[in-house]
This record gives sequence, structure tokens and C-alpha cells, in this order.
Amino acid sequence: MSKPTQVRAIYPGTFDPVHNGHIDIVARAARLFDHLTVAIYARPLKNLLFTTEERKAMLLEALHDVPNVSVSTYRQLTVDYARQIDAQVVVRGLRVISDFELEFQMALTNKKLAPEIEFICLMTSQEYAFLSASTVKEIAMLGGCVDTMVPSHVAAAMSTKFEGTAGSGEESVRLVSLRD
Ligand code: ADP
Repeated sequence: MSKPTQVRAIYPGTFDPVHNGHIDIVARAARLFDHLTVAIYARPLKNLLFTTEERKAMLLEALHDVPNVSVSTYRQLTVDYARQIDAQVVVRGLRVISDFELEFQMALTNKKLAPEIEFICLMTSQEYAFLSASTVKEIAMLGGCVDTMVPSHVAAAMSTKFEGTAGSGEESVRLVSLRD
């Protein structure tokens, strides 16, 4: 197989909301490929805090200074969407061992569906290894400071969502352990 002149990649995810771990993966992937599409899955199975449009607006603001990156939404299989936008590579981020199992299974399944697409995992940067959207939401919901974890506009959007709701956002935040 010959190497394409332009290598386009897609970074799919829920991004509910975008955090600094995602932004780090985008910045690093954008240096590796000619173009990167950050693709928001618009019909995920999990409960969400933000609408698709809100998630897209937050990503656009966070990534406005990365020149070869665009943000879009999709509702079909990731590999079908990758084909639609001519992406030859799917980028994912790897944090911990439990991420590996899921990413490995998804990559092999997707490879069956689309053998021409490659799946590449970038290791998390050490400072973001603990970050996930659920953790960030849980901290924000309980009034903690998320300033080092998300861009300021995302922190503001979360505090607006949780403002005066006294925990009524709980159905969209998976509580783990930070309140005990
Ligand atoms: P989250 O797991 O934070 O809810 P998503 O489900 O939207 O985020 O994940 C999109 C991709 O980003 C996945 O490949 C996920 O492993 C990766 N990712 C999420 N958080 C980080 C992080 N802190 N460092 C590196 N990659 C990450």
C-alpha cells in the first residue's frame, strides 16, 4: 500500500466536557498528521451533562489556535465517519491499564470493519494521567476547583450548569468517591 500524500486523522470521543488531557492529545496528534478532525459522538449511550452543540462550542473555543484541526459531530459508526471524511487514522488516548483493554477491543473490532484504517493510541502525558471528564464533572458539581484541569470557559460552563441546582445535576454525573 502506498503512503497517501496527505494523512488525515480523526480523534473521536464524547468530550463531555473537553478537558486538558484531551487538549494535550489533540495538540500532539495535530503535529503528526496533516489534518485532525476532533469528532464528537452525538448519540452516546452514557448520560451527558452538555448537549452536542455545547460540547462542540467548548471544543472550538479550546482549539481555535491549532491551525490544522477541525471539530465536527457524527452519529454513525466511527469507521464509517472516518471513511466519509477520508481519514486514514483513528487517534485515541491511553491513560491507564483499564483504558487499554477497551481500546484494544475497539481497535480490533474496528479493524475487522475497516481494514484500511489504522488505530493509533497516544500515551497520556503524566500530568493528565488521572484526568477524565467524569472526575472533572464530579469535582465541579461538589464545588471543587477545576482550574488546572479544564480551560477557563469550560470551568465557567460547568459552574453555570451546577449553579443553584444543589446536586440536581447528579443524574448526569457519575459519582465515584470524591464526596466521602
Ligand atoms: P473521558 O474518558 O475523559 O470521558 P472521552 O470518552 O471523550 O473522555 O475520551 C475520548 C478519548 O480521549 C479516549 O481515547 C480517551 O481514552 C482519551 N482520554 C480521555 N482522557 C484522557 C487523558 N487524561 N489523557 C489521555 N487521553 C485521554
